[in-house]
Amino acid sequence: MSELIVEILEDFLGKPKKHYSGKSQISFDCPVCSDIKGCPDGDGKGNLEINYHHHVYKCWACSETYGTHGTINKLIRKYGNKNHIKQYKLVIPEDKKVVPKDVEHVIDGLPKEFNSLSIERTSSDYHKAIEYLKKRNINEDKIKEYNIGYSYSGDYKGRIIVPSIDENGDINYFLGRSYDKYSKMKYKNPEVSKMDIIFNEGKINWDSNIYIVEGVFDHIPIPNSIPMLGKVMNDLLFKRLVEDAECKVIIVLDSDAEKDAINLYRKLNSTKLNGRVRIVYMPKGFDIADVHQKLGEKGVVKLLSTAKKIKESLL
Ligand SMILES: [Zn+2]
Repeated sequence: MSELIVEILEDFLGKPKKHYSGKSQISFDCPVCSDIKGCPDGDGKGNLEINYHHHVYKCWACSETYGTHGTINKLIRKYGNKNHIKQYKLVIPEDKKVVPKDVEHVIDGLPKEFNSLSIERTSSDYHKAIEYLKKRNINEDKIKEYNIGYSYSGDYKGRIIVPSIDENGDINYFLGRSYDKYSKMKYKNPEVSKMDIIFNEGKINWDSNIYIVEGVFDHIPIPNSIPMLGKVMNDLLFKRLVEDAECKVIIVLDSDAEKDAINLYRKLNSTKLNGRVRIVYMPKGFDIADVHQKLGEKGVVKLLSTAKKIKESLL
């Protein structure tokens, strides 16, 4: 059975980097990491580790950012083809056939310890949370507009919570950012793959200019923006933009992601969006959240007004 699984995996992941058959452990180049680095034949790192006894996988480099972890079933669905799924179903043992409740796609709303920051409170946690947002130049209006809250107990204790809503207004994701500067883990987000959501999809006006940013704190100061939750756009958002964006799509990535921004520009511009894609070059060492924090709304508007096309010859 295990040889067959290995064969299926090799068929779409290529040559394994390491294989400990005694432990049922095998590693390959991660398709997501390789894609980000622009190496279609693998980045040579072998970060994607699979245990075919437990039927799970995880990328040691990008699982946090891109949700590259889960069941082998999910791995094959994402990166294999129909044939691989068929073959896998034939070799999979009975007890693995019942896939646990699909936690990969949906969350059950906000954590129960969520408290809105729009309601003034006297607790020190409330003040710490507000203080943190103030430092980032996020005022009461923005707190209301984005329904920003915080949690002083439970799994998201000590975190600002920024909810994301889907088209029906249902919560499809949220960001948990620590407001305690000594916290080791800055972000704690729900265990849903970021590949399967468009953050605050329900807030987007598709008939107006749309700004593409990296993170949620870049999204808050820019009206009609969508954070990619990383430097790479998921297929879902890409498809939605191509199909539904009626005006311009303006890419506003961090200064350290200029290459990613240009790649994204090229990709979008080669679709129906041709001629309607723009780019904003960020000052060195900055992201838009920094610009907002230091220069306020005016600074953001000024920077966004520099959006321009990339010369054909540079593409
Ligand atoms: Zn990876």
